[in-house]
Amino acid sequence: METTELVRALEARTAAGDLLQRDADGGMRCTACAHRCVLTEGRAGACGVRFRRGDALRVPFGYVARRYVRPIETNTIYHVRPGAPALTFGMYGCDLRCPYCHNWRISQALREGTAGESPTDITPEALVAEALAAGCAAVVGAYNEPMITAEWARAIFTEARRHDLVTALVSDGNSTPEALAYMRPVTDVFRVDLKGWSAAQYRVLGGRAETPLACLREARRLGYWVEAVTLVVPGFNDEADGLRQLAGELAAIDPDLPWHLNGFQPRFKMSDRPRTDAMTLVSAAGAAYALGLRHVYVGNLADEVRQLSHTRCPACRRVLVKRANYETLRCDVRDGACPDCGTLVAGLW
Ligand code: SF4
Repeated sequence: METTELVRALEARTAAGDLLQRDADGGMRCTACAHRCVLTEGRAGACGVRFRRGDALRVPFGYVARRYVRPIETNTIYHVRPGAPALTFGMYGCDLRCPYCHNWRISQALREGTAGESPTDITPEALVAEALAAGCAAVVGAYNEPMITAEWARAIFTEARRHDLVTALVSDGNSTPEALAYMRPVTDVFRVDLKGWSAAQYRVLGGRAETPLACLREARRLGYWVEAVTLVVPGFNDEADGLRQLAGELAAIDPDLPWHLNGFQPRFKMSDRPRTDAMTLVSAAGAAYALGLRHVYVGNLADEVRQLSHTRCPACRRVLVKRANYETLRCDVRDGACPDCGTLVAGLW
């Protein structure tokens, strides 16, 4: 589909939304993400997919842009059911505009005019039936920002929970307490990106530096299992001091919080940059351990630093979960603990 055709197709696949505030003067503000757009008739919010029609907020519903069954680790979630197959779905649109987005064909489809895209109609029941038929233990909203389609994700997760599946959101962290509270009754995991530490970095992405950490804290307060990811992009956010600052913030929140340092591969509007070199990630991981974090991982450079993708007991350092290239080869966690020394290891095992 061309962009205008895709916009029309998405407008036809909507339902009444819940995440909004009404002003006394009839104004409507969307609360699904930290932009908190004031919506006026005929113009979608910054994400391009939530809009006002008359007195109602219309939000995406009843379709997916992509869905795959893959190990849960491919969502950079390591402390939840290692090795379990997960059905992961993504939608169109995004509240940020990261120039290195891995999934820009769907997340930026409405801004970049990616040709050939079209939604696939599906119900929550059919999607979850697919997950069950494929032997999945989890359903994950990812690829674009799932909070901008929170009502749809909530419908899917409600169905997933009826079948005892784990549910997870993979978020850019540009969310709100309202959206986190709305999703929490049906969501187990909040996997959040920390894409940088400065206002200048987040200006490039279209967000604010303080929002993702605030979101992470709120998600933990609400009882989500939380893991954080930083994609380290050369020349953008690969300074050792800044990465140390992020590590310090995370260690102060909870030393058991897993932090993933992922290597960048050239793509989208940053296809002229080199990939991240392994030493940058290894030294950032070393600094994070020195600052007190107990679970720091290096990803996207699997062959070079495979040792740093394993989970080790924080006390005796025994390898508890052995991984290669986002696959679990062996998991020795027993009842949430190390079988050698009995130390509890944080996570949903
Ligand atoms: S999800 Fe965010 S960007 Fe989209 S309309 Fe709501 S507040 Fe605006």
